[in-house]
Amino acid sequence: MTKSGHAEGYETLEVLINGRWRPGSSRHSEPVMNPATGEVLGHVPHVTGDDLDEALDASAQGFRAWSVRSALDRQSVLQAAAALMAERRDAIAKVLTLEMGKPLVEAGMEIDFAIATTRWYGEEGRRACGRLIPSRTPNTRHSVLKEPVGPAVAFVAWNFPATNVIRKVAGALAAGCSIIIKPSEETPGTCVAIARCFQDAGLPDGALNVVFGVPDTISRHLLASPIPKKVSFTGGVAVGKHLTRLAADTMKRCTMELGGHAPVIVAADCDLPSAVEACLAAKFRNAGQVCTSPTRFLVAKEIYTEFTNAFAEQASSLRVGNGLDETTQTGPLIAGRRIDWMEQLVEDAEANGARLITGGHRIDDVGSFFEPTVLCDITPDALAMTEEPFGPLALMVPVDTLDAALEEANRLPVGLAAYAFTTSQATVLRIQSDLNAGVVGINQTAVSLPEAPFGGVNETGWGSEGGIEGLETFLRTKFVNELVL
Ligand code: NAD
Repeated sequence: MTKSGHAEGYETLEVLINGRWRPGSSRHSEPVMNPATGEVLGHVPHVTGDDLDEALDASAQGFRAWSVRSALDRQSVLQAAAALMAERRDAIAKVLTLEMGKPLVEAGMEIDFAIATTRWYGEEGRRACGRLIPSRTPNTRHSVLKEPVGPAVAFVAWNFPATNVIRKVAGALAAGCSIIIKPSEETPGTCVAIARCFQDAGLPDGALNVVFGVPDTISRHLLASPIPKKVSFTGGVAVGKHLTRLAADTMKRCTMELGGHAPVIVAADCDLPSAVEACLAAKFRNAGQVCTSPTRFLVAKEIYTEFTNAFAEQASSLRVGNGLDETTQTGPLIAGRRIDWMEQLVEDAEANGARLITGGHRIDDVGSFFEPTVLCDITPDALAMTEEPFGPLALMVPVDTLDAALEEANRLPVGLAAYAFTTSQATVLRIQSDLNAGVVGINQTAVSLPEAPFGGVNETGWGSEGGIEGLETFLRTKFVNELVL
């Protein structure tokens, strides 16, 4: 432990309120654990109701100061923050791996994504253009103005401690909004490190505030206030619905990035080796703890055995371990509760007739490791086919026809990512139009880019992040009808 009470290489955990880094005022704090070793990395401070009131007032003042800056000026602060993130990239990536577990290479790529997203939003903030509508009568001017929506609040999950945070922080700031963010208490260090880059880049006090504590207490307090005009959440469906209900009392706008259960349609005409390679990498990235993780593999029966055998053979040879070890290919789950969930899903799937062809068990007593797992011939009765595993489980289903694959793909109330592997353009066109999904990957699995909209449909929520659509969610529209005198 260092003198500041945290593990070597880890971040000093503080809250940021009104431009000042400090401990929370509550007597409570909670330990942050390294999921690979069980080691305590540091203690995340909790805020009190008074701290939250201070953060709300600060966000109102921060909004007044930041929203009146020119778009060019705001861009230069975002670019400076991105430059600081780039300078501190390796140190932040290490913090991320220590608290979340993913391999250091993946953590570095996540910081690169955060840098690119900050740069992109910084540029796009200059294009928050309104428009002039041709006048109905002489001497009138019909103007449409785009304005920052107001102070925002955000809550985010632990699985992408940088990406989940930056999509909200950079989007809000680029539009001219202030923001209070409550990252996950399980992965607070990455957000603190990123927020330090923004503060050091010259943000006015109160434009960005970071708080930690008991999630439900914090969200109830912040959402009851009339100060925030917008709430943005990344997490599970149940919490998203709860926050949407709380937001309704003051009619805050919502962006809800919630859970998924991604189907993968593998057609008989696909390029099989490259489909296996792409699916495997995407499935076991971040140990499957990805909202877009390919989960239900709907494989044409003609190639089912070949595909599942090749996939399982490669899955069983993946090196599972501590993300700081450079030979590691897939890391731990965030905590022991996720291991219990994997065991429950595997046991239930087998009881419902699925065949476990590789994995299915926890690894070691130290850390939260679970084997890359492949379950074949799983039926819709199995819990895992309906509830999001959010872990290293690949569920294989043979399908007879494209219609059957599409029916199964669209069976669930959530719709985030969906994938298809095929060399037929006719199949691509059909899949593109018929899949209930917010993002679709064809013959590859990358569906998240700074300049592209990312978001789900149905119970996966509302709104997009990234792309011009992401900026739009932090803007409000005003129509001005002027008689020119
Ligand atoms: P969860 O909804 O229980 O918790 C997610 C986060 O929300 C936690 O880190 C917690 O700090 C916070 N939270 C919980 N209750 C809260 C409350 N009452 N008020 C404010 N914040 C609260 O979900 P989880 O199982 O821990 O996280 C994984 C889920 O997140 C999965 O369903 C996954 O698909 C989803 N997710 C979605 C996206 C997306 O972009 N659509 C991205 C990442 C994760």
